[in-house]
Amino acid sequence: MAQTLTAPKVKVDRKWQLFIDGKFVDGASERTLVNPANGKPLTTVAEASKTQVEEAIRAARKAFDHGPWPRMTALERSQFLNKIADAIDAHAEELAELETLNGGKPLRETTYDIADAAYCFRYYAGLITKPSGQSIDVPAPSVTTVVREPIGVCGQIVPWNYPLLMAAWKLAPALAAGNTCVLKPSEFTPLTAIRLAELLHDLKLPEGVVNIVLGDGPTVGQPIAESTIVDKIAFTGSVNTGKRVATSALTNLKKVTLELGGKSPMVVFPDFDLDIAVDYALFAIYCNAGQVCSAGSRMIVEQSIYDQFVKKMAARAKKIRVGPGLEAETEMGPLVSESQLKRVLEYIEIGKKEGAKLVTGGDQPKGEKYGSGYYVNPTIFSDVKPDMRVVQEEIFGPVVVVQKFSTEEEAIELANNSVFGLAGAVFTNDITRAHRVVKQLRAGITWVNAYHNTYTECPWGGYKQSGWGRELGTFGLEAYTEVKQININLDPQAVGWFEA
Ligand code: NDP
Repeated sequence: MAQTLTAPKVKVDRKWQLFIDGKFVDGASERTLVNPANGKPLTTVAEASKTQVEEAIRAARKAFDHGPWPRMTALERSQFLNKIADAIDAHAEELAELETLNGGKPLRETTYDIADAAYCFRYYAGLITKPSGQSIDVPAPSVTTVVREPIGVCGQIVPWNYPLLMAAWKLAPALAAGNTCVLKPSEFTPLTAIRLAELLHDLKLPEGVVNIVLGDGPTVGQPIAESTIVDKIAFTGSVNTGKRVATSALTNLKKVTLELGGKSPMVVFPDFDLDIAVDYALFAIYCNAGQVCSAGSRMIVEQSIYDQFVKKMAARAKKIRVGPGLEAETEMGPLVSESQLKRVLEYIEIGKKEGAKLVTGGDQPKGEKYGSGYYVNPTIFSDVKPDMRVVQEEIFGPVVVVQKFSTEEEAIELANNSVFGLAGAVFTNDITRAHRVVKQLRAGITWVNAYHNTYTECPWGGYKQSGWGRELGTFGLEAYTEVKQININLDPQAVGWFEA
């Protein structure tokens, strides 16, 4: 019998406050969070008013315009970022457990996410000290250099599927470059962001450099996106909200990066080992219960192996151990919220009505241990048509559709038949075909014979409606900088352009 950890070690029954201008403050109201594993109240957190959001923005503005952070050397900021990484590592167990309690995902996933978040700070601590800029050979007596400078105040809005990791993807490059930040976690999963603020406070991060405001999108997110004193907005979430954020950002033409959804294809050719392909397919869709922007939610399988693929995938999907994230044996946890549960169950009904064949799942697991938790069994639809809503729309749950193809051209056409273009994968032993197909996938993140490996060092973002710009890697740092050319005349003489 596997070890059960259902009694949390971490204390959630405490004050969870906003972090504004270096101080923890109560909100204008409070929200009760629910534990997705059992549907019961978890704790209460502060929620900001619009006035408090404005205070946070002004604090970030003051910290940028007059504070020490943007004026520090790159090395000093780098040292600070390394201390943040150390602090996250030192509190990794606590943060992982908090994230499991708050968002529902299994401890084995949150443990990984927290380590990744720490590494993201470490990576940008290193990158910011590396050579950057250009020196350009312009005609004498001028010399020209091109430098990168921080953009200013950055509004950062993150979702609930990777709460601390998404915060790290945004804060680490922004801070490394010398910006100041106003971060809004999802209303559903704010706990680890607040713990991070407490760690930053203990480390004596200068006041106003990071501000954390809690609350819902319209009250807290929108004023950040609309503010004319915010210089950049970085958003991760749904396409519809992303479009709203981009529209709000027009007030002052602030810089915008958007990491939005996906409906990512995994193309399987018959020359590849079927069992390994099925193993990857399970990982591609059921990791974090499918609540992953890059989830492999469309399997595109060659016709001669289609039936076997569906059969084998269903047999293994049925065996996935669904349960509370704190139980050591759990392989797939609940969905994050009641609204997400309803949304996924609705999509399953839509799929059935559209005539897709429900091969397995489609319902909630039954039994005492599930309580009123937000669980959905791993679900597979086969025999789908390309224009069905379950094939085209992002479900963001443990639901996969399996499509059939007969030629390589058809596989590519099906794979690209989407408004999204975040990720995609091809499975084949034919290296020429692998290269040919992957080059034609209209997506920002692609894999050959793999799925989901994500590297802090590599750019993350999508084509088409999957977003604007890239996070992570050198691209992620550049997205938090302005580019300035500096021309110096070493021998000033009268220009003589006008005679008089
Ligand atoms: P949203 O895109 O609405 O939420 C993402 C973030 O944006 C949250 O912090 C949210 O705040 C905030 N937000 C909401 N409305 C506004 C607004 N008007 N202005 C500024 N910020 C705002 O996603 P949902 O949580 O509603 O999830 C719905 C669907 O979105 C999912 O089913 C999934 O398909 C997709 N999604 C995709 C993600 C991805 O990684 N690509 C991540 C999350 C969701 P709050 O939650 O506090 O209201």
